[in-house]
Amino acid sequence: SADPETSRKAREEMWRLKIMPTLEPRTNASFVVLIRNREMNEFRATMRQLEDRFNHKFHYPYLFLNDEPFTDEFMRTIAASTTSNVTFALIPRDHWSVPEFIDESQALMARHKMAADNIIYGGSLSYRHMCRFNSGFFYKHPLLKDIDWYWRVEPGVEFYCDLDYDPFKYMQDNGKLYSFVITLKELEPTIPSLWDHALAHMLVNNRSSDLMPFFVSPDGGYNLCHFWSNFEIASLNWFRSPAYESFFQSLDRAGGFFMERWGDAPVHSIAAGMLLNHDQVHFFDDIGYKHADFIHCNRGSLADPILKCQCPLAFENFDDNEGSCLPKFKSFKPSLWTTRDTAEA
Ligand code: GDP
Ligand code: MN
Repeated sequence: SADPETSRKAREEMWRLKIMPTLEPRTNASFVVLIRNREMNEFRATMRQLEDRFNHKFHYPYLFLNDEPFTDEFMRTIAASTTSNVTFALIPRDHWSVPEFIDESQALMARHKMAADNIIYGGSLSYRHMCRFNSGFFYKHPLLKDIDWYWRVEPGVEFYCDLDYDPFKYMQDNGKLYSFVITLKELEPTIPSLWDHALAHMLVNNRSSDLMPFFVSPDGGYNLCHFWSNFEIASLNWFRSPAYESFFQSLDRAGGFFMERWGDAPVHSIAAGMLLNHDQVHFFDDIGYKHADFIHCNRGSLADPILKCQCPLAFENFDDNEGSCLPKFKSFKPSLWTTRDTAEA
């Protein structure tokens, strides 16, 4: 059998060839992971896949954020799970607290009511902090100040396909600012007044985009379609733009993050509908992905197999589920929509 030193050298040479793409200039990007200490093992499993499928070739760094201090065990274990740079940071307190304009006893009553109505996470305050943080604060974290692109990753999600190119670079080179893998309908009881507040903001600021009609139902209301934000590769500069910030501020003032249970996914999506054009939003069909029970995994056809995907043996592609908004997105014809269309209707 081969001498261990020779086979070690051969392995290293193979490895060097595999990481050749790192010689290309990388983009200014980072993974961003909001996570709790108790989710360490779920994230290790996710990170294993992300590294094997993609990041072993690119070595993008990870930023881990938490509203509580990370434990030593968490930091040591996660750092040992990748050869890329990892940073662990605390979220500033004012990015994760109830603002003074919210009446806390009313907010508490709203939570009780939503819990009694069996709305998922309806009774949870921390979930609301999370949604508000992901809507209006993550991109303001000091450690992201000089970073242009991020990829949001959650503990427990799975990645099924090898990604042989750099998706950040793809975004950058093709004028994309936001991307998604799964698109679906929001639970209406979590956002009873979100659309009205968004529409008011659009009217006052005279926003229009050729993506907006994707989100509008025939009666001028919200059709509940949104991009699932647990996966997101997007431009931090877009989130930091005055137009996005003023949208977030007006939603925040409206109180729905606490008085209702607005999710960051519909907030990001409606903002995209208001501020981005259709060709600035990218659907990553070639990223096989699972979050909770929903999977998008493109096996390709027999004639043109995508052998780089190891989809689960038996699964339902969420694209084929009646709750998916993907067919609608694929057949969508961009057309300018202004709030006047609704005002006149
Ligand atoms: P779901 O995807 O809507 O079911 O919500 P998750 O429970 O997956 O939460 C979304 C993301 O926020 C995940 O990355 C969680 O780890 C993270 N997260 C949720 N709540 C908290 C929290 O209270 N503290 C921290 N640090 N992270 C949280
Ligand atoms: Mn999740």
